[in-house]
Amino acid sequence: MKITDLKCAVIGQNPVVRITTDEGINGWGEVESSKSYLKPHVLFYKPFLIGEDPTNVERVMLKIRRLGSFKPWGSAVSAIEMALWDIAGKAAGLPVYKLLGGKVRDKVRVYNGGVRFPMSGHTPDDYADNMAKMKAAPEGFTIIKQSIGFHSPMPRTVPDFFYGELQRGGFHPNRGPLTERGLKHVVACVEAMKSVLGDEVGLALDCGPGWMVPDAIRLAKAVEPLNVMWLEDLITGDYVPYVLADLYREVTRSTSTPIHTGEQIYLRQNFKDLIEKQAVRVIGPDPCDVGGLAELKWVAEYADLHSILIAPHGILDGLIGLAALVQVCATLPQNYIAFEYPVGRPEWWYDIVEGLPDPIVKNGFIEVWDKPGLGVTLNPRAAKKYLNAGDEDFF
Ligand SMILES: [Mg+2]
Repeated sequence: MKITDLKCAVIGQNPVVRITTDEGINGWGEVESSKSYLKPHVLFYKPFLIGEDPTNVERVMLKIRRLGSFKPWGSAVSAIEMALWDIAGKAAGLPVYKLLGGKVRDKVRVYNGGVRFPMSGHTPDDYADNMAKMKAAPEGFTIIKQSIGFHSPMPRTVPDFFYGELQRGGFHPNRGPLTERGLKHVVACVEAMKSVLGDEVGLALDCGPGWMVPDAIRLAKAVEPLNVMWLEDLITGDYVPYVLADLYREVTRSTSTPIHTGEQIYLRQNFKDLIEKQAVRVIGPDPCDVGGLAELKWVAEYADLHSILIAPHGILDGLIGLAALVQVCATLPQNYIAFEYPVGRPEWWYDIVEGLPDPIVKNGFIEVWDKPGLGVTLNPRAAKKYLNAGDEDFF
């Protein structure tokens, strides 16, 4: 089998990858909805793929893997890898999980990242109210993640939150030492959320990046009695193109609260320090940033060898990304906690993707399906009207 074309169309906000072959089999991949600008970068890889056998996934990846980098520049490579596995599965008549080593579990646990309700403010009461809504959601989540600190609007909504000069704009620009008042506010909000969840539903906290090590240690120690699932991305994180494993190790060694990072990291080589130095207790690679499904599986196995847990990131990965997460997470070793559940936005994404179960999440889990490849496909007739000008030949 040979690859005949690599196409990319931005549908809604998500760049969607379609690889075609001379045997009429298509492969689908998807890039995070926050990266609608990546279409030209996806198409950059086209000359490397044409004529290659897509079922030799690793051989194709050797041509393009070194031509990517940390988020967002690993996304195109990752989406292409996803589409290659989709083709390989369809060609073999097997679900992707079989090609990745077979499933370890029949249903995969998800944690709530994508099902959100508007926040009325950022006081402890607001966090408690919002958590009550998420706890009551029909998906029955057993773990819920919430944003606090520099990952939330607190720097601009809480007076005297930190000592730095407030930066505005996207992608979490603030960094600096917290005031005592700021730290107390964060802890009060965490306590309020835990008072709603009790020990019935786990609470994970997305915190940064932007924390200084002393504040990170003080937060981690302050919440020790609350048994939170993890503190995510305190030091580095989203769109930070380096890891700083030694600083994470300093925080991890100081506390019993699990420390987590990894959503922006590209490739196994960049997880090496975090894992070998026991710098964190939980890693969170995203299949749409780390280099794909097999790359995520490799990182998970190496983490398990070091007794480090894994909770893959995925909030913006869309519905094809959701299918990819289900396939790879079915195969991960027993250090697996849950992956971050993405939703289709806008809502019409559920009308154009076929193959997902209905409802998707039951009691906090998704049952692993057995359809060949990723097991989902785009319905061209339904999707056509959402294509942008210039993408008419996508299907
Ligand atoms: Mg995060």
